[in-house]
Amino acid sequence: MTAAAVIDGKAFAAALRDRIAAAVPDYQAATGRAPGLAVVLVGDDPASAVYVGSKGKATIAAGMESFEYRLPADAAQEDVEALLKQLNADEKVDGILLQLPLPSHLDEQAAVGTIDPNKDVDGLTPVSTGRLALGIDGLVPCTPLGSLMLLQDQLGDLSGLEAVVIGRSILVGKPMAQLLLGANCTVTLAHSRTRDLPDIVRRADIVVAAVGRAEMVKGDWLKPGAVVIDVGINRLAPAGEETKGRLVGDVDYGSAEPHVRAITPVPGGVGPMTIACLLRNTLVAAHRRAGLPDPK
Ligand code: NDP
Repeated sequence: MTAAAVIDGKAFAAALRDRIAAAVPDYQAATGRAPGLAVVLVGDDPASAVYVGSKGKATIAAGMESFEYRLPADAAQEDVEALLKQLNADEKVDGILLQLPLPSHLDEQAAVGTIDPNKDVDGLTPVSTGRLALGIDGLVPCTPLGSLMLLQDQLGDLSGLEAVVIGRSILVGKPMAQLLLGANCTVTLAHSRTRDLPDIVRRADIVVAAVGRAEMVKGDWLKPGAVVIDVGINRLAPAGEETKGRLVGDVDYGSAEPHVRAITPVPGGVGPMTIACLLRNTLVAAHRRAGLPDPK
């Protein structure tokens, strides 16, 4: 078999961000303002603070307005919901992202449910989830949306292909399965109780791994010529002289690569697509709110 293509999510995401930035001036000319994304961080989790920082930078780099709100770790449920409602009513805000996870005393679902579905750029409100299930246009979670774009770029029309999604989270696995179904794949959604997972994965033309277990999917689980999207981000324990362990995906890249047609690396595969799709969702939300057709 010829060598597998390495799916360059970083380059694809950079091109997507360029297209988004190029569309902003037209929106601005039509509405008199740039699209705006508000990100809400509750507490001081360092990883979340880093994510919020990079989202803000990417938003500004695309020519959009970035609004950052920080609430203390002991914020009450009412404070979080009051802020989200204020952002729902703010005309300058087209997208609202509540950085998860929230501190454990807060009710995450109730907070997310406060967000106006038309500004729900993370695609996690019950209305967005329902729209996706019904096949109605809405805002779709960024990581699965980015994964679908990479698959369509590799394979074109996905109709009739067998897809196996491993992991059924609200954030990744379930919406991924819905998107693949919408693209006319035959979809199997596997999870921790699935029996004979390697045999199920062996049927798949498309494998999406979103489990959170380092290098779980082995090369001999894969059908020759499959296209593999590795969503997982796992840090290994430091080896030898390393101060920080390596980042790896949910797929054992070394054993998988010889079997597949194309595969996303970790890092540099799906990861960069997530922020690019957040910007894309913000631009789409802004257009729809202004009654403009969706950007190309
Ligand atoms: P969750 O922990 O919410 O979900 C993990 C899923 O994997 C669950 O559905 C679970 O099944 C399933 N699972 C666990 N163990 C097994 C197993 N042995 N066999 C089959 N299925 C199993 O994780 P997320 O969906 O939020 O994230 C998944 C991975 O993707 C993580 O590594 C995360 O860091 C990464 N991620 C990457 C992003 C990116 O931008 N690239 C964005 C979001 C996540 P069950 O439901 O039965 O418990």
